[in-house]
Amino acid sequence: MSDQFTPAQQHADAPLRLFNSLTRAVEPFAPIQPNHARVYSCGPTVYNYAHLGNLRAYVFTDTLRRTLLWKGLDVTHIINITDVGHLTSDADAGDDKMEAAARAQAKSIWDIAAHYTDAFKRNIADLNIIPPSEWTVATDYVPQMIAFAEKIAPAHCYELESGLYFDSSSVPDYGALAGGRDDAAHARIDPVAGKRNPSDFAIWRKSPPGEQRQMEWDSPWGKGAPGWHLECSVMSEARLGHPFDIHTGGIDHREIHHPNEIAQNQAFHGCCGEADAAAAGFTGARWWMHNNFLVDRQGKMSKSKGGFTTLFSLIDAGVHPLAYRLLCLGAHYRSELEFSAESVSAALTRLKRLVMGVENLKARAEGVTWQSLRLDWLRANLHPKLAPLLEQFDAAISDDLMTPRALPLLEETIAMKKVPVDEKLCLLAAFDQALGLNLLTIGRADLRIQPRDAQIAPEEIEAELDHRQAARAEKDFALSDEIRDALIARGVEVMDGDPLRWDWRLALA
Ligand code: AMP
Ligand code: ZN
Repeated sequence: MSDQFTPAQQHADAPLRLFNSLTRAVEPFAPIQPNHARVYSCGPTVYNYAHLGNLRAYVFTDTLRRTLLWKGLDVTHIINITDVGHLTSDADAGDDKMEAAARAQAKSIWDIAAHYTDAFKRNIADLNIIPPSEWTVATDYVPQMIAFAEKIAPAHCYELESGLYFDSSSVPDYGALAGGRDDAAHARIDPVAGKRNPSDFAIWRKSPPGEQRQMEWDSPWGKGAPGWHLECSVMSEARLGHPFDIHTGGIDHREIHHPNEIAQNQAFHGCCGEADAAAAGFTGARWWMHNNFLVDRQGKMSKSKGGFTTLFSLIDAGVHPLAYRLLCLGAHYRSELEFSAESVSAALTRLKRLVMGVENLKARAEGVTWQSLRLDWLRANLHPKLAPLLEQFDAAISDDLMTPRALPLLEETIAMKKVPVDEKLCLLAAFDQALGLNLLTIGRADLRIQPRDAQIAPEEIEAELDHRQAARAEKDFALSDEIRDALIARGVEVMDGDPLRWDWRLALA
């Protein structure tokens, strides 16, 4: 189905506007190269499974990517895999997360990285996130990182016993992305003795004398490993050139990781020698975009806190992964989103209704060649009752990816009376290009996932519900209640009065 449309040839009406964390304003977006947007997304640190919060970051970048495609742009999208350099805190002292995980699991770092990279890619596929044009792996770029560091070292770095440090006072406006430098915050997180400024950070971390790390490389500053911030400066420039269009990450990166990347980029491009004003303002990417956090009742979801919820655990609980995608799309990416069993159950119910609505339309459209209709044709010929929905959808996603405003248009399209069913389906397929919910290809049966520890099979539930319906038809309400209570005791929530007759779900733990 998705191949039927050629969004690159569409000319949607509303101008695309995106929030730029650099200016803290929503600005009209135009790519630097005509019709081609280049996007870099900070990727996962593969020392553990991604939690649902991490995955929110990639649902956001996917929504961005799909919106750029919707607007007719070609997109080159890079996501990196951090398999070296990310320490167990934001500080420069302490363990590398990868080394620590390898020790704890008595495995090689390479095995750890391969296992969690593979798991991450499965999550990406389950969420129907378009894979990046290229996954760049940090350890493949160490020689380039050393070359980058050699170039900036003379004017911007100093050496301590523990490594090579970037002098954050050597570039103009350090920390502007974070809203100014915050020395107090940096001092709290980073105890390295001898640093000139609290916000200085490691470019190269020397292996402690007498200690061999699993991952270490020779460098002009001795054996060691690159600092975490270096990799994104190097890989984004290597794969996308400079400047490129959009750099994304979670909002935590706005405070330290991305300001440090920007400082490195300024230094690399000669911001300060001959007072090159253009390079002083050089930040690597024109747009810096950040998704807000997924939180739960304990606060921000984080790997280091432990006890986090993964997409695997959600699927084990019987929730289709696209319900999580829908939950994410139901909130604007710049708002905090609360995850709970209730919120994801509600998203699953909404997804089921949408899928059933589409299934009903498909049943009515049998024999009609709706799949071959093209979106550009649709734009010119859409039924007058449907045309405003397409316009509203385009306006919503063009307005800094306002998916919560776009979603109800799905339900409105499904419910619209007295319009040709083929046009409705075609419009829904077009919307789904941007939303990625697979509405046209999954069916009701796909959404029924058997929870891993379910005590009851779906067939048994359906049979019990048939008995219950028969009891109700005979006005035997005592028996009907008895059956419902027995189901509840086994974790089945029975939803009376569901107009679409999707009448049960397994309660989430
Ligand atoms: P990490 O694997 O820790 O490097 O993080 C991968 C991505 O997830 C980064 O862009 C983070 O900023 C983002 N992230 C981490 N925690 C959350 C959260 N609770 N909600 C949303 N995004 C997050
Ligand atoms: Zn990064």
